[in-house]
Amino acid sequence: MLKLQEGVCKICGTNTPGSRHRFFVVDHCHDSKQIRGLLCHHCNTMLGHARDSITTLSGAILYLEESRKEWSVSDSSSQPSCCASGLDS
Ligand SMILES: [Zn+2]
Repeated sequence: MLKLQEGVCKICGTNTPGSRHRFFVVDHCHDSKQIRGLLCHHCNTMLGHARDSITTLSGAILYLEESRKEWSVSDSSSQPSCCASGLDS
């Protein structure tokens, strides 16, 4: 399966399984028991903490987007470096 995913986490695309973990996690749907894909430790933990809730994870995306907007208005120097990419100066 890792070959199907080209050796990367299906969510974040990292090619390392995560700190102290040597293998990717085989993620199952807890209801259907079907295998969903290989995830790094961080993304698997994230899904577990969100209880596989699309509503919760969508809310987290909105939350992060809104806080980034606030940063860009108040102080552009406090933006994380990931937001600065693609900006030509
Ligand atoms: Zn990941």
